[in-house]
Amino acid sequence: MRLELERLFELADEGVRARGEALFLRGAILEATRSRGRWQARVQGSAPFPYRVEINQSRGEWSCTCPYEWGPVCKHVVAVALAALEAPELFTQKRLGQPAGLRALRKLSDGELLELLWQLAEERPELMQEFAYNLLQRFE
Ligand SMILES: [Zn+2]
Repeated sequence: MRLELERLFELADEGVRARGEALFLRGAILEATRSRGRWQARVQGSAPFPYRVEINQSRGEWSCTCPYEWGPVCKHVVAVALAALEAPELFTQKRLGQPAGLRALRKLSDGELLELLWQLAEERPELMQEFAYNLLQRFE
């Protein structure tokens, strides 16, 4: 069932809605992309690294990588839904299909992937820090 973005505001509690609106107004939405009813963005909140939000209207699903679990909708999802409604121009159109880089990654073995990650950790430690942080959030 198609998800109306307004529905997310109804599901969020009042405080969450206000904080989501504040995030949106503050310009916390980063790297926003869309493709056919799918909205993806990173939202910079108070945590050191931005969270990833995805809203899939055709599937009626949404997700965020933050640890919020006191209600069905967190402030980051509210912020992205608001941006999609009020400022869709923030979202760049994503071309369908996977980028060539991702296709190439899928062909690698686990060992080769690990090797690449180690290399990345040496060259771009800040990127690995963010990666590890997001991974930890997932298991908390
Ligand atoms: Zn969140």
